[in-house]
Formats: sequence, C-alpha cells, structure tokens
Amino acid sequence: SDQADALLNRYQDQSSAQSKSSPQSPLLSVVIPMYNEEEVIEACHHRVCKALDQLHDACEVVYVDDGSRDNTWSLVETLVSPRHEIIALRLSRNFGKEAAMSAGLKAAKGQAVILLDADLQDPPELMPDMVAQWKKGYDVVDMQRRKRFGESWFKRTTAAAFYKLINRLCDMPIPQNVGDFRLLDRRVVDEINRLPERNRFMKGLFAWPGFNRTTLVFDRDPRQAGETKWNYTQLLNLAFEGISSFSTWPLRLATLAGLVVCLLATVLTMTGGSTVLLAVLLLGGVQLLSVGLLGEYVGRLFIEAKQRPLYLVMQEERKPASDTWPETDIREAELC
Ligand code: UDP
Ligand code: MG
Repeated sequence: SDQADALLNRYQDQSSAQSKSSPQSPLLSVVIPMYNEEEVIEACHHRVCKALDQLHDACEVVYVDDGSRDNTWSLVETLVSPRHEIIALRLSRNFGKEAAMSAGLKAAKGQAVILLDADLQDPPELMPDMVAQWKKGYDVVDMQRRKRFGESWFKRTTAAAFYKLINRLCDMPIPQNVGDFRLLDRRVVDEINRLPERNRFMKGLFAWPGFNRTTLVFDRDPRQAGETKWNYTQLLNLAFEGISSFSTWPLRLATLAGLVVCLLATVLTMTGGSTVLLAVLLLGGVQLLSVGLLGEYVGRLFIEAKQRPLYLVMQEERKPASDTWPETDIREAELC
C-alpha cells in the first residue's frame, strides 16, 4: 500500500542519512579502545600504520581514550600518520570497553571497520587478510583464536564455558572464541549504531545483524606490555549482561524450577509430615531465585528506561593525513 511504501521510504531515507559512508570515505577505519595503555600506544600506532600502508588506500584510525588515568591521552594527541587520518576521542571518564567501542564505531567513516585491542594481542598485520575477505563479498570477518597465549588456564576454561552456555541460551549463534577483533562492513556498522540499548554486550550485538559472515583463525599473542584491564568481577558481570540481554531463558528457568519444586513439595507433604520443613525450604529457595532473576531483568529495564547516553565525548581531535603538523579541531563535551 501507499502507506507502507511511504514508511519504507522514510526508513531508507533515515538509514542513508545516518550512514556516514560515501565514495570519498576511507576504505577502512580501525577502531582502537584504550584504557591506561601508555606503554603500548607507540608500538601499536607503528604496527597499525605499517599494516594499513599495505592496503595502498586512504584509511583512518580512531583511537578512543576511555578515561585513562595515565598519559594515554597526551600520547594519543601526538599521533600522526603521513597517509592516514587519525581521529582521537577522549571520553569524559572510564565507561568500559563496550562503550568505548560504541563511541569508535559512531565516529568511524570507513567503508569497513576493524576493531582492534591496543595491547597488540590481536596482530594488526592480519588486517590486509581481513580486508581481502571483505573484498570477496563478506560483510563480517570474525577472527577466531586458535591459541590464547599468555592467558591463564582458568581464564581459558571459564571463557569456553561461557561461550557454550550463551550459545545454548540465545537464538542466534555467537561464535566461540571470537573476541571483539573483527571486520564489519559499513552496512553492519550502521545497523549496530542504530541499536538503542544501553547494556552493550558487543559480542552479541556484533552477531545480531547476521549478513554474510566468514571466520579466519589466528593465534592470539600475549599482551605486549601493561596488564589486563579486566578483573573477574567485571568478566562475570559481562557474562551475565551477555546472557540476560540476549535471552529470556533464565526467566523461564525460574518458572520451571518453581514448577518442579511445587510438585516435589506436594509429593513430600503427602508422604509424611516431617518433610514440611524441607518443602518450606525448597519453596523459599525457588522464590528467592525467581525474585532475583526478575530483579536482574527489571534492573536492566530500569537502565534502558533512563535513556542515558552510553558515553560522553570530552574532546575530539582530527588529524588529516599530512606530513605537516595539522590544525586540530577540538570540541567541548559533546553529547552522543
Ligand atoms: N579497554 C577499554 N576500557 C576498559 C577496559 C579495557 O577501552 O575499561 C581496552 C584496553 O585498553 C584494550 C582492550 O580494551 O585495548 C582490551 O582490554 P584488555 O587487554 O585489558 O582485555 P583482555 O585482552 O585481557 O581481555
Ligand atoms: Mg588484552
């Protein structure tokens, strides 16, 4: 109908208006979140630019300083490249890697975007291979780790268990052992940028749009310098965020457990009086569990309902590709 056509047109207008890509866009944007990474920045910049030079095309590097408390920002400010544009974003505080990546994805203008860790655990030298896959027509190139050097047995097993669990619970497959290191085509980036949720479990969000995907396998290097920015509480939090924002299964689990315990309690009370205490305890346990689960989801609704921005950009600098020291464009605390 006409109305449907009008709606469709409006939708298409909106998506093209929001898309930052045009024929003049850089071929590739590399988004690098950084939190207290002063020790690796220079090595990282050097290796990234060297890898980009091999593409023989104008690229862009987006550094996002996620509220570092060391010298990260003053170092990032000095970075330039003769061939590639450097964009430096400074968030107003530490918002976490997921928010920093969202900020970088919003700022990126490239026809494709690669997300890379600053600590050089994801080798920048693989970027030309990723771009080659993209040029073959894939919209997403997931980078799967074969080995995880320099990570403890405990971290590796808990990570594996997490991927197993989340894949059981979610409707769409979240690839095992694929971190945030990946290439996304512009249309996937535009879709991810449009997702409104505050709880940003990026591994789920990256899987959500679908499109044509392929996987490259690589060996993950140990951290170049500095130490991991995650502790186990944060990882547990991330895991729970991932599960609860992509699955309502835990809620159903609570209902099922409640059902089972009710039946059990009925049977027990029918077979003898002394089991009353047991029945009460069981029921109490299931009630607490269910209320807790409800609370988790209600809490997430509460966070979504507030509609707070995911992050605040305090400062933004753009350094076009040039041999001379360029003028910088500094904007004050801008809302995203
Ligand atoms: N990072 C960030 N904000 C944070 C924590 C980490 O931007 O709050 C960045 C960090 O600087 C690095 C990447 O996220 O570039 C991955 O962090 P890390 O190496 O500490 O994680 P791991 O590799 O141990 O999982
Ligand atoms: Mg790391």
